[in-house]
Amino acid sequence: MKQLMTRRQLLRLLAAAGLGPAIAQRTVADLASPAAARPKIAENQLAPPSNRPCYPAVMRDGRVIQPERPLAVIEETEVLVVGGGPAGFAAAVAAARAGARTALVERYGYFGGQWTGGLVLLVISSHAREDGRLVKVLQGVGGELLDRLSKIDGAIVHHKPDQFNPTTDPEATKFMMDEMIREAGVKVFLHCWVADVVMEGPVVRGVVFESKAGRQAILARVVIDATGDGDVFAAAGAEHERRFHAIGLVHRLGNADRAGLESLRANGIKSIGSIEPLPAVKWINLRGPSTDCLDIAELTRLEMEHRRSIWLRAQQLRQKPGGEPLFLLQTAPQLGVRISRLLAGVQQLTYEEARQGRSFPNTIAVGGAQNAHHRGWPIPYGVLIPRTLDQVIAAGRCICVDEKLIEDMRLLASCLTTGHAAGAAAALAVKTGRRPREVDIAQLQQLLLRQGAYLG
Ligand SMILES: Cc1cc2nc3c(=O)[nH]c(=O)nc-3n(C[C@H](O)[C@H](O)[C@H](O)COP(=O)(O)OP(=O)(O)OC[C@H]3O[C@@H](n4cnc5c(N)ncnc54)[C@H](O)[C@@H]3O)c2cc1C
Repeated sequence: MKQLMTRRQLLRLLAAAGLGPAIAQRTVADLASPAAARPKIAENQLAPPSNRPCYPAVMRDGRVIQPERPLAVIEETEVLVVGGGPAGFAAAVAAARAGARTALVERYGYFGGQWTGGLVLLVISSHAREDGRLVKVLQGVGGELLDRLSKIDGAIVHHKPDQFNPTTDPEATKFMMDEMIREAGVKVFLHCWVADVVMEGPVVRGVVFESKAGRQAILARVVIDATGDGDVFAAAGAEHERRFHAIGLVHRLGNADRAGLESLRANGIKSIGSIEPLPAVKWINLRGPSTDCLDIAELTRLEMEHRRSIWLRAQQLRQKPGGEPLFLLQTAPQLGVRISRLLAGVQQLTYEEARQGRSFPNTIAVGGAQNAHHRGWPIPYGVLIPRTLDQVIAAGRCICVDEKLIEDMRLLASCLTTGHAAGAAAALAVKTGRRPREVDIAQLQQLLLRQGAYLG
């Protein structure tokens, strides 16, 4: 018969072995948690080495070789969005609301990308001027997010007479994105870094990603590349441009409402940063040098150098009359990468076309104007579609525009609206059994309008 040991007997035995105090603390802590929350398996259970097949890279002839290996497919979905920044968030919500089974993979633990993780808080280009009238071009999923943020005091809108671009609180934005993603029924995989694509001939069938659980795959009928850096279309071999751009690091100062601004001004400090919904906090943008955003040595160097100079500047501010209460509240968790890869799309939108407000039969969004000084610029569907690669749609800051238009295209409002369009298009492609490049444009525009988007 099996001999069972009581908890008391076990503790006595462990105390005799000299493990009493450590175990006693552990036991008290365990007993404090409710029974349902206690783990069902022993915490220190060892995984037998044979249970998990290992495929380490090997050295062969002085080279590192990754052997062929099967991958577990953990999800099969209709629309897969890679990247949960502004574009990916809007794409996932739009696709799911349009009735497509939708999953989203994000390398960090929250949504928002540069918006929340990069602390880029001012949503520029939300409006344009049409015949002297102010028009809100950021509608649909992105517009709804901002409306919902302002209802929970997570955004300030119209903070100056001619300032139409809302400023948002990063934590409120993360919270509301979570809410909208959950409500839409999107299946989310956080802490998963997409490292490759799954191809079947020339067609993308899914992605391969890395996580703490190892390397796994997700299959999908359409994949939306909302990584900002075009990681998916580049891995699939789509034509694209490489671009250098300024890499900065945004940071925030605390106790801003206690600083003596007059004294600081008298000492040559014109501004301590831009306003936020929290009156005690200011955010400070940093442009940084223009360099290769895909070069890890550069990313490492800039991350550390920016952080050092930000720290030193904050200490200098604290030594100025009026600056004493200020402190460095936070440097952004994400380095401020602006542009790296741009898709070579079936259509390229140029700055000239945008400034002329050229209209297109396949318009799927309208870009706004910085400070709403000029008219909106229709964005055609073709800038989201790779020239030859199938079943992939791009959205956000990596879409196909010319060099001069990059500065307008990469702003938050355009990333939200192109994301929305990509999500709706992907859902429509799945529902109608067509390739993304073949979706019926009239149907897509109707779907976008039903979802509240602004098309001019
Ligand atoms: C310093 C700085 C200041 C700026 N200032 C402003 C401003 O004041 N106003 C404004 O409107 N815009 C501003 N911008 C521009 C704007 O923030 C970005 O262009 C916008 O956030 C881009 O959105 P996105 O969704 O395309 O990409 P991102 O915001 O970069 O989001 C991409 C998402 O994909 C995830 N991801 C990337 N690769 C992978 C992968 N391989 N696997 C899984 N997930 C992945 C990322 O973690 C991220 O969540 C600024 C940008 C920077 C860098």
